[in-house]
Amino acid sequence: HEEEEDKEVTTPKKSATDHGVKVASHYNRLQEVGLAARSQSRIFFMRNFNNWLKSVLIGEIVDQVRGAGHQQVSVLDLGCGKGGDLLKWRKGGIDHLVCADIAAVSVEQCQNRYEDMKRKGHFKIFSAQFIAADCTKEFLSEKFDDPELTFDICSCQFVYHYSFESEQKADVMLRNACERLKPGGYFIGTTPDAFELVKRLEASDSLSFGNEVFKVSFQSKGSYPLFGCQYHFSLEDVVDVPEFLVYFPLLEHMAKRYNMRLVMKKRFSEFAEEKVKNEHHRSLMMKMTALESFPCEDGARQATDDRTEYCHAKEHCSRAGVKLPLGTLSRSEWEATSIYLVFVFQKMS
Ligand code: SAM
Repeated sequence: HEEEEDKEVTTPKKSATDHGVKVASHYNRLQEVGLAARSQSRIFFMRNFNNWLKSVLIGEIVDQVRGAGHQQVSVLDLGCGKGGDLLKWRKGGIDHLVCADIAAVSVEQCQNRYEDMKRKGHFKIFSAQFIAADCTKEFLSEKFDDPELTFDICSCQFVYHYSFESEQKADVMLRNACERLKPGGYFIGTTPDAFELVKRLEASDSLSFGNEVFKVSFQSKGSYPLFGCQYHFSLEDVVDVPEFLVYFPLLEHMAKRYNMRLVMKKRFSEFAEEKVKNEHHRSLMMKMTALESFPCEDGARQATDDRTEYCHAKEHCSRAGVKLPLGTLSRSEWEATSIYLVFVFQKMS
């Protein structure tokens, strides 16, 4: 597949009043900051932790797909952003990847990153297509290079909560995630846990809560509509856009329309505690924080790779005098990351 041409990035239709336009322009504006600046970030370890968690999740799901006898693995990365998970898919040895995101600039950066990986690598890399589209409004299946394309996995990392603005948007996103999954295929993702957000809000004496790395602000409390329950999430230098509560039992119910069955839902803390017991996952966590395991001879381009981030974690860690592996997160980072949950749905045949 090395010679395969990638499709040009297409731009989604915009309307000035659209909430999606706000989200897209926010993410498009986010600069890829240099590694030095990133390693100084107060959420440096949280990012590495989130990457570790996604690596474990992605690795396990790819293994399950292969274990079920599927040798050619195709994946949809819904809300791919700048391609932070490309390396994880490459490590998983998948065959085809479709990356979609509302932020056209991010999609371009994702595509450039993929092209770089392809140019530099001595390894076989999957074929790929890149699509800029509002996945709460547009049907991705109409945009695939191969109109018959089906997926073994749809991965939706830190994205689904943007769709819960309305039932229609949440449903279109869900349809995009699930309709082209093969029987037995997986819909995996990470999203804030509405129960946790509401619990912390109710425990607060104001309309917001947080610490020096994150802040969550609501407009009111006491009642929480199923859709359109908006809050503002700001995470140091990363996100400051409106998000919506995802009432998980409702998502589970909606997913049944697409023949999807929930097979796993865990808070990040629960998931991590379970996975570090496994030697392989634990050693991955150690690698993510061990300078010796991953020499950083790569240039600036690769500095955006997880791998390089891992390399600098150890340095940072010893400077900060913190313990490895899970102890690398500060209490503030842990308070932020423990809001999230990880989920796996499977398509019934
Ligand atoms: N999945 C990536 C990751 O884990 O690094 C990026 C996560 S980032 C927090 C959220 C992403 O969701 C952004 O890239 C944003 O543009 C995308 N997004 C938000 N609303 C979207 C929509 N309606 N359609 C497609 N992508 C959307």
